[in-house]
Amino acid sequence: MLALPRLEGPRLAGLPADDLGFIEIDDHARVVGLDNVYAAGDATAFPIKQGGLATQQADAAVETIAARLGAAVKPSTFQPILRGMLLTGIAPTYLRATINGDLPEHGELAATPLWWPPTKIAGRYLGPYLAETARREEGTALEDQPVSSDDPREVQAGHREARELALTFALADANSQDYPSALRWLEVVEQLDGILPPGYIEKRTEWRERAHG
Ligand SMILES: Cc1cc2nc3c(=O)[nH]c(=O)nc-3n(C[C@H](O)[C@H](O)[C@H](O)COP(=O)(O)OP(=O)(O)OC[C@H]3O[C@@H](n4cnc5c(N)ncnc54)[C@H](O)[C@@H]3O)c2cc1C
Repeated sequence: MLALPRLEGPRLAGLPADDLGFIEIDDHARVVGLDNVYAAGDATAFPIKQGGLATQQADAAVETIAARLGAAVKPSTFQPILRGMLLTGIAPTYLRATINGDLPEHGELAATPLWWPPTKIAGRYLGPYLAETARREEGTALEDQPVSSDDPREVQAGHREARELALTFALADANSQDYPSALRWLEVVEQLDGILPPGYIEKRTEWRERAHG
């Protein structure tokens, strides 16, 4: 049996709410029943709560506001695309799906990033901002990527995050003198890239000696 909490909205004073307390919006993120009020994110009645979707609602709201103020933009509607990183402990899996009504459809799954930069919160502006802040990868726009690539450079780039994670865990385990675990993390890196980064062959030799000594 699986028990899940029932979602409940914030019922913000002064704003209309549905039966569960969430704010109903239209395709332009306008609050239903009010003029000039917009909402985006988990507090809205859209059933899937996710940061990436929240940014897409915010995009729709901002474009509509800008158009109302006379900007030369044709406001696009909220067309939800769900992008998720499944962190499995070794290498992430990337998932992407369009949503029809309340249900995901046209799902895609890949071991290499399906959007760039490959941040957990995939927003048009927030993703590149977070990537830059984390100094992982610079970028100015969120770009969807095809499902797979034969280009070894792209495959390498897709492994970067997993490699960094595995190396971080390897060093942490070695610092804690858990050399068998540190060596297993190096095996993960080898599986990803075929080789170890500079300096890690020596570390592996040393960790092997310590593991057996
Ligand atoms: C554990 C966890 C992991 C997640 N991982 C991911 C992920 O990998 N990718 C992803 O896209 N999404 C993820 N999400 C979902 C994501 O965090 C939310 O969808 C996103 O934060 C929603 O943004 P928001 O601005 O609508 O709400 P929030 O981020 O919750 O911000 C609402 C803000 O409003 C404030 N507030 C509340 N009530 C009031 C009030 N009355 N007056 C003033 N301020 C108020 C709150 O304090 C809060 O700061 C995750 C969520 C959780 C819990």
